[in-house]
Formats: sequence, C-alpha cells, structure tokens
Amino acid sequence: MHGERAMSVRTKIDQLCARMHDAPQYPTQGAVLFVDLERRETRSRYLPVEIMRTFLGGRGANMVLLYNLLDENKDALDPEVPLIFGAGTLTGSMPSATRGNFTSRSPDSYAFLDASAGDYFPAFTKRLGYDHIVLYGLAAQWTLLKISHDTIEFLDATPYVGLDNLDTAAAIERDFNCTERKDMALARITTAGENQVLCSGIMGGIKSIWARGGGGAKMGSLKLKAIMIQGKPAEAPMAKELKAHNKIIGKKITSTSVIKNALKQVGTPFLYKPSRVLGALGTLNNQTTAWHESLDADNFDPYRPGMDGCYKCPVHCRNLNDMTPEGKGGWGSAALMGLKGNASYDKAQADIDHHKRRTYNGIKGDGHFDKYDKGDGPEYVTVGKFGPMIGLREAEQVLRLNNILNDLGLDSASTGSAISWAMELWQRGIIDASHTGGLDLSWGNYDSIEKLLFMTAKREGFGDTIADSARAVERGKYPQEALDYRMTVKGLFQSDPHDARILKAFALGLSVATRGMDHLRNRVTLEINARVNDDAPFKAQLYGGTVAPQPNSYEGKEIAVRRCENTFAVGDSVGMCRFNTKLFNSPTLPDCGDFATQLATMIGQPVSAEELDEVGRNITGLEHMLNFRLGLRAKDDTLPARWFDEAIDNGPFKGEKIDRREFEAMKARFYALTGLNSEGVPNAEWHQKLALAATGFAVRVELPKPLPGAPDKAIVIDEAVSSVSELRSALRRHLPGAHAALDDPTWNVTVNGEMVLSGERGRALRSGDRVSLVPIIAGG
Ligand code: SF4
Repeated sequence: MHGERAMSVRTKIDQLCARMHDAPQYPTQGAVLFVDLERRETRSRYLPVEIMRTFLGGRGANMVLLYNLLDENKDALDPEVPLIFGAGTLTGSMPSATRGNFTSRSPDSYAFLDASAGDYFPAFTKRLGYDHIVLYGLAAQWTLLKISHDTIEFLDATPYVGLDNLDTAAAIERDFNCTERKDMALARITTAGENQVLCSGIMGGIKSIWARGGGGAKMGSLKLKAIMIQGKPAEAPMAKELKAHNKIIGKKITSTSVIKNALKQVGTPFLYKPSRVLGALGTLNNQTTAWHESLDADNFDPYRPGMDGCYKCPVHCRNLNDMTPEGKGGWGSAALMGLKGNASYDKAQADIDHHKRRTYNGIKGDGHFDKYDKGDGPEYVTVGKFGPMIGLREAEQVLRLNNILNDLGLDSASTGSAISWAMELWQRGIIDASHTGGLDLSWGNYDSIEKLLFMTAKREGFGDTIADSARAVERGKYPQEALDYRMTVKGLFQSDPHDARILKAFALGLSVATRGMDHLRNRVTLEINARVNDDAPFKAQLYGGTVAPQPNSYEGKEIAVRRCENTFAVGDSVGMCRFNTKLFNSPTLPDCGDFATQLATMIGQPVSAEELDEVGRNITGLEHMLNFRLGLRAKDDTLPARWFDEAIDNGPFKGEKIDRREFEAMKARFYALTGLNSEGVPNAEWHQKLALAATGFAVRVELPKPLPGAPDKAIVIDEAVSSVSELRSALRRHLPGAHAALDDPTWNVTVNGEMVLSGERGRALRSGDRVSLVPIIAGG
C-alpha cells in the first residue's frame, strides 16, 4: 500500500520542529537550518540534547533528521527527499576534527547516501552557528545559497552553470571578492552534478569531495549549484580544559609512527604496497589481484611538491602533484625507505626503492601541458581504481586522471569501478563498439579512459552509461547478465582497492557496511599489521574480545568489525578525520575516551568512553533501520558472487576465497553481537529505544508468528500513529512482504492486554502502548 499516507516533507518538518527548541541547549550547539529551495524560505531550530546523547551530531544527527523526514516511497532524486548536511559536534574545536557529512537517500545505491569530507566547509559552517542544513524543494532556477553572518540569500546561479570545480570556485571568488578557505567556504557541484551523473559528488575544495552515493546528482536534482559560507568565522571561545586536552590529542596524532613517517610524507598512497605485497589489489575488475610495483607510493616522489591540509589539521596528509616543467617534486622522497610495511608477508619487498625520475613531457609526450598536469592527490583509492582496476601502470597517467576527476567532481571509487565493469563486459563481448560509439574499452587504453571521463560528466555517448554508474542495468544500458560482473554491495561499488577475499574481517565489514561496499564504515586495517596480530593479549584488549591472529581466519572477526563500527561512527559524528581515529591506521590514535573528555567539557555533563561506544552502535542501528525502510534485508549484507566462487590466483594467500558457510556463520555472530535480528535490523527492544530517541514515538507490536521482515514475532512502529486503524496501515507499510498475513480477518488487536473488538478507528494509541495481534480462532 505504497503512498497510502503520503505526507509532504514540509509537514514532516513542521512535526519535527515541534519537538525542537528555539535556543541552543548547550553553549556551542549550532542550529538546524531548514532551507526550502522552492519557496525560498528558511527557519532554524535546535535539536534536543537527548539526540546528542544518543546519536551525537554530524553523521549521527543527520540520520535522525533523515529518519524523520524521509518518505521511502519517493525516488532519491525527488526534491521532497531532503539533502542534509551536518558538521561534527567537535568540528573546528579539536585537532583533525574537520569533517562534516552529506546524507540523503542514494540515487546510485539501494541504501541511504552518506558521505564525509573535510577541507574548510564543515568548520566554517559550524563556526557560523549552524550544525546542520536541511535542503529540500526544487529551486525555480539554478541557485547559489549564500549564508553569511546575518543573512541567508538565494542567488541566481545561472552564470555558474556549466562550470566545473576549479572554474566554479574561481568565478565565485571573483564575483564576491573573496578567497576560498580564507574568508569563504564552498560546497558545490560540477557539470556532472548538474547532469545528475550518479557517480558524481559534492566538491568542498580542489580535491575534497563528498564522494559516495551520488551526492552531486542529488544536489543537482534540487537545482542547487553551491552553498557558500561567506566571511571568516570568528574563533570560538574555547574552555581551557578543552585546549589542554587538545594538546594531548594533537600529540597523540603527530607522534604516531604511521602518521609521522607515511601519511605526512606521501599521503594515503603508501597503502598500495601492503595490498600489493599481500596479493590483494583489486585488478581488472577483481579478475585478479596482482599488479605492478610501478604504482608504489615512491613512484610519485618526483612530482610531489608538498602537502596540503584541511582546516587546522596538524597532519597535512594531502599529497600535491605537479608534472609541469616548473613543478618541483621530491617532497617525502625516501620517506618510505626501509619501512617494512607489510614485509612480514614478503621480506624482500621491504628494501625495494624505485628511484623514479621525472620523465613526463605532457600526456602525449609532445611538450604540451595543461591544467590537468598539476593538482591535489591522488589518494590510495584513486591509485587503485585508476591503476590496477582499469589496467594502467604509469604513475603519470594516474596523476593526470586524478586531476581530471577532481575538476569534474567525480567519485573516483564509483567512476573507476563503473569503467572497470564496462571493460570486463567489453572483454567478454557482452558489449562492443556498437554500445560504446566506437570507443575501444581494452584494459589500459589511456586515451579512451581520459575521453570517457569528460563524456561521463556531460552524459555524452557512452559516457551516459558510465554516468548511470551501478544502475546501468536497471536503466537499460546493459543486459541482465552484466550484473554477474558488477562489484557492488547494496548497489554501491567498492571504495577500497583492497580485494577482501583474504582478510575475512575486511570482507565482513564490506558486507554489513550500512552505506554499501565501503571501507570507511568499519575497515579493520590493523588486520594487515603482523605486529598487532602476533600480540594476542594486546589484540584482545584492543577489540574487547579474542580475534584470531590469522588474517584469513573467520574466528572472532565480528568482534573487531563491531568495535571499528562503533569507533568510526563516533569519529564521524564528532567530526574527527578517519585517518586520525584509533583502529583505522594505528592503535595509538585518539579514541572514544578522548572524544568523551572533550564532549564533557563542551556540554558540561559527564560523558564516558563506554557511553560513546554505545552511541556508535546506536548510530549504526538507526542506519540499519533506515535501510530496512528502503527495502534492504539480511540477504543484502553479502559480497559479490566472484569473491565466493573464484579464488585469489597469486601471492602468499593464493587459493583464498570466501566460504559461504563460514561467512554466513560469521555474519550471524556479528548480528548477535550487534543486537540485530536475523533480518539485519535492531531487535524489538533496541529498536524501541532508538525510536523513542529518534522520532519520540514507539509502539511495540507482538505478532502471532514470524513474518517476512519480523522474524522475532515483534515489530516496532516508530512513526506517530493515533489509532489502531492507523497502526494497521503502518504495519502494512513496514512489512510489505507480509500483507497476506496482516490482512487475515481472524487476527484481532489487543492494546495493553485489552481486546479491541470494534471501532479500531476510534481506539486511540499512545507511544509506549503494547499491542498484540491475536488470532481469534484457537489453533487457526
Ligand atoms: S589527516 Fe588529511 S584528510 Fe584528515 S583532516 Fe588532516 S589533512 Fe584532512
């Protein structure tokens, strides 16, 4: 009965605002700014402090807002589905807390959309007094939303339409006489976003991107070209306790070996070599896992002039590149020499040093250079997706494609995966030149790939197929059999270049990650670290339970994934960069204890590390509830068939694949540990608790037997219903696979133990009531 109780987003916002406050609930709390782009109206309110205590800000509170405002019967690109920005609770107030999330329903995957980025936009927004911005409604024309100290303006963005990342920022700097990062921050889309390219993101700087899930397309669907924060925000007054603990946090970060020796020197590409040595680099659309050492991070040395960083971050992990004749390289050269990396799996690799020289003379070798010969990046993800995944092995080619992707506003993970998928279809003859307009999609064909990126942003020719990203089959671009080679989970291409057939904890993480096949939700990176693996007591203490030391064992891996999910969800929600969060790169980085100390100072109430660990679980619990509403079930917490059916064909772990039975058992243990039922959603007790905090309403309904979607014979209705008949409608909406049973006329309703024999419409219901469906014919 889809659509039987359609409520407009404006009505939902009215109801939500009634539960919110007119003034901050603690001194540094920012407002939620609701922006109606169609009517050009705004209003702001403050979230109750209980939401912060249960879900924190940033990603956590974004999920609460989406949970309240989403109509799951509406398409992701419907302007009634809001796009929500949220800065972390500690963004701008803690070293490396630079982050904020954009959240919505994803037009690319089958899950919700949630993407994190740093640079300057989140800190500027928060400093200006806004924790969240909720955007909805179709603007009558392309719009630039300008937010300054005392005004919010809806400006005509028509002059910026058709501009890509660099040109959009330059034009706005020129027209408003300001400089990005100095006295302006900008979240904007490119032509790819305007054209609703499903693998396009929202750009927050030269390279910074809210990448995953198609945020660029979603923002384009509202006709919103950019959000500009104008004016340098004042420094927030900082309590001395906060400052004192910030010093400790800063020191923890800068004294951590992997940060000091690798991340600060060459950036994330240092991760390429450990995956390569393990024989675990996703290559040629994961048909194999071995690739060349020509993309090890030191091959970028001669083109690396220095590093860039996000708002007040002490790390500056962002490796720049300059291949032009004027460009100076050499930053971080030799930084990785002698570092053992993953050498325990192949000792000879520790000493490999490439001493690469500058040989670049323009991409065609003819001495011609252009704006794509310098830029910011690449990250490890881009090296993997535009190297081994599509058959390229030259560092210069990867650098140039990275710079093009940044300007076009494309998510390198999804775009690279969409191209490698197309290349495998080409290899197998499933598509040919008649599909590609003559473009040769042989592996490693650089010219085709560069051309295809520009065509994708414009949706021209075969670019229109790549622009449909993981949805190309549903949109009629490929035949059904193409799905056999699509490397996605929940419809989202994998972010990480690491092929997870060896590391079973990585594999579990990718399958249960709430936004789809993405490593940033829960990757147990330390599984690749032999020193941690070999120290059993330390490992057990780190994860709060026994996790097998062997990377390819299934035993106890659910414990490590659970702990990472909790910690990373908290990290996102306070705004901490993942690279500097405990368990992602190192066991010594800032953790929930550090965040708790800072939050306690901020809100003037005690906060403990254990409480925050529970908050991390709550955030992922609410995300599972959102995905359930979007139709996802336990069967969607899985992996691409290739990883179950085909073994790794090289390296020290040759022969490894995922055993279906072992995987299902590991997943079941993960569900039990998390508190999820066998459908992958919070059990009724936990659901009730989360619902009360998120929507302020929860009625638990006991069922006479397990139903599809409610395997435990109980379900919680968490949208306000005022009568038994409304509850019946809500049940049908929440359990679309159980209509036959729910329509059974012999099932009566009891409320708090009392049978409702007639007048269900008039029988009022309140949050907290206990309802049962009871068959009236005994044995029936
Ligand atoms: S570590 Fe790198 S990505 Fe993270 S906040 Fe610092 S500069 Fe930005």
